[in-house]
Parts: sequence; structure tokens; C-alpha cells
Amino acid sequence: MHHTMCRVQRGSFVYYTCSRLPVRHAFTTKAGGVSTGHCASLNLGFNRGDDPENVRENYRCLAKALGVPAARMTLTCQVHEAGVSVVTESEAGMGLVRPMAWQTDALVTALPDTPLIGFYADCVVTLLYDPATQTAGVCHAGWRGMAAGILPKTVEAMAGQLGARRQSLIAVMGPSIRQECFETDADVPTAMEALLGAAVRPFVAEKGEKFHVDLQGIGAALLREAGLAEENVIDSGICTMCAHEEFWSHRKTNGLR
Ligand SMILES: [Zn+2]
Repeated sequence: MHHTMCRVQRGSFVYYTCSRLPVRHAFTTKAGGVSTGHCASLNLGFNRGDDPENVRENYRCLAKALGVPAARMTLTCQVHEAGVSVVTESEAGMGLVRPMAWQTDALVTALPDTPLIGFYADCVVTLLYDPATQTAGVCHAGWRGMAAGILPKTVEAMAGQLGARRQSLIAVMGPSIRQECFETDADVPTAMEALLGAAVRPFVAEKGEKFHVDLQGIGAALLREAGLAEENVIDSGICTMCAHEEFWSHRKTNGLR
């Protein structure tokens, strides 16, 4: 785990924060919440067979624990593509108190008190914040989104549409499946190299007939290339598959969650 990451327990909730981000934020775990069965207990997804009332209650309790307004929590609708949406006043609360009207894996905003919510169960969710302009972003990237450049596109949206400054922008890549656990067939590194070029090669290890891809390494390289300072690109270092008792892992649960 990166030395700036902290494990926090508040009531029944356990979450991780990064001391470099000077804004309220959390990488949640499975702990806390009221969901049962395969969603026990902090399930925040409406599309996993959980009772929607339980999911809403989980958001209400989490917002209270974090000291953020539940009614302004704004959710991504993750489709493994590279779209980025700007959250303005008319979109605040989308996915929770307003119907979901976008399909977008990344959200950025200049609004205060507007929590942006991304979902991860092995995929890389990155929190971005520029203290100079108080602008924020959340970006979900599996290998497809990473290959499609959604991380630099999120930086572009923050800089181009919200005036964020690349030199002060901080990005924290959260708990996600790491190279030693992320075993793939040749299709994944081939598709990534087709989109990103030979630059991905140092991040792919061959093991027999299988491949292990370092998504966080690729993400960090893309963020630096997008103009972020090396010291402002932080990899949490936490593997969701290794730490599957604490975090949701898509692979560990065979896709159930
Ligand atoms: Zn692992």
C-alpha cells in the first residue's frame, strides 16, 4: 500500500483515503451498509440483484458517515467506454435522486459539495482533484477504458472545460486488480498495444501462454504524459483480488459481484 493511503473505520464503515487529496473522499470496502446475501453488506450498485431500497439506505448511511450531501451524490453509468461528462447543477444527484440520463465512465465537476461516485470490483477507479481550482473528477477504467485513453481524456475535460491546472492536479488510482493477479489471454495486451502502441510493452509480462498486465503502470504513464507531475500521480498499491475479503472482486466472485 502506498504510504499516503490510510485505512479508516467510522461506525460500521471501513474505507481508504489518501492524505494527498485535500478534499472529502473515500475508497469504500464491503464493510458497512445493510445489504444481505451476495451483496453483503455495503453494495452501492443498483444492477446486482440487490433490493433498491437497501442500496438507497447504503448511500444515505455512507453520506452521513462521510459528511457529504446524499442528495447530490452523482453516479457514473459504467459501460467500459471513454466518454467523460461534466456535472453541472442540472445533473447533480443523477443516478440517485434523478434518473440516470447518461452512459459515462468518468465524471468531472467544478461544483462544491457534489460527490462523484465511481464503481470498482477489480477495475481501476481514479479520483482526481486540483486544489488550485477546486475541481474534481472520477474515472472508471478496466483494460478497455484504459486502452481507449479515458484517464487522459478525464484530465483533458478537467483542464479544457473546468480550467483545472495540470501541474497541480492530483490523481489517486484506487484499489484494483494488480499485475500479479490480472491474468489474461493474448487478446488483452494485443488490443491495448493496438490502441496505445509499443509503450504498453513494459507493462505486460508473459507467463507461459498467459499474460499479466500492469493496468496501474499504464495508467500512471498516461497521466504523466497528460501533464501531471510525477509526485501527483499516486497508485494506492492495493489489490482487490488479493484483498478480496475486504474489497469487491469481480474475478474472485466469478462475476457475481
Ligand atoms: Zn492481487
